[in-house]
Amino acid sequence: MLEIPCPWCGRRNESEFVCAGEADRKRPIDPEAETEAAWTDYLYNSANPKGLVREWWWHVNGCTLWFQIDRDTVTHEIKPVEVSPK
Ligand SMILES: [Zn+2]
Repeated sequence: MLEIPCPWCGRRNESEFVCAGEADRKRPIDPEAETEAAWTDYLYNSANPKGLVREWWWHVNGCTLWFQIDRDTVTHEIKPVEVSPK
């Protein structure tokens, strides 16, 4: 079981969170211009690389904060990510 470092609550059990996938994926700017195959690829396929991956996590059973972490997909080492407000 992983312990996820929520920026607000601190380290909490993985069961309190939902992982929303790779954070570096870019949603197509013009969805109407995309082919069905491109949308399918965006929605259902992830790169799933070995090593460090930046991911979105949602503390759904806690403070409800969305945040990013860098997680090594091999060792599960987790590093918090500082995200500046836009
Ligand atoms: Zn939290």
